Amino acid sequence: MNANFEPISILPLSVIDWRHAIKLMFLGRITVIETYPDWLIRSEKLTINVPSVCVTKDYFHFKKGVRFSRYNMYLRDLFQCQYCNDVFDFEDLTIDHVVPRVSGGKTNWTNCVTACKTCNFNKGSKTNILPRIKPYKPDYYALVKKWKEMPFTVRQESWNQYLGTDKKVANR
Ligand SMILES: [Zn+2]
Repeated sequence: MNANFEPISILPLSVIDWRHAIKLMFLGRITVIETYPDWLIRSEKLTINVPSVCVTKDYFHFKKGVRFSRYNMYLRDLFQCQYCNDVFDFEDLTIDHVVPRVSGGKTNWTNCVTACKTCNFNKGSKTNILPRIKPYKPDYYALVKKWKEMPFTVRQESWNQYLGTDKKVANR
């Protein structure tokens, strides 16, 4: 988390590898707020609990933007194929270019929609089949709201408090 106790990033969630967290802790760059009580790392000289929630000592300014990514676009469309309207899992979806790439269509918020594999295949490079929505760049807060409504798990109960969510804890 940032020095103000807000996640540094939500989309994607700012999670760091535990080795990186321990390194930053020894460098004095972060303060460890919580650790995993049942997860210990032992070296010859010391035993420590792996950090689960950390906050940076310096405050970092970040622009609250929404980067175009496969996940963020699926999230904008609520994982719903914009041609057949069915909801799919991440791995069954594709990025559909409304203006096909062969015609110079870009891979960005305003030219791409979520499509299932079948619809994307059937559409091919046809331009007379239009998606339900006109693709748009979503607002950061609207996208974060959608993300919070998605089913996902947290690694520790207390994460909910920092994320403003009410999710189940994942089994490790
Ligand atoms: Zn479809």
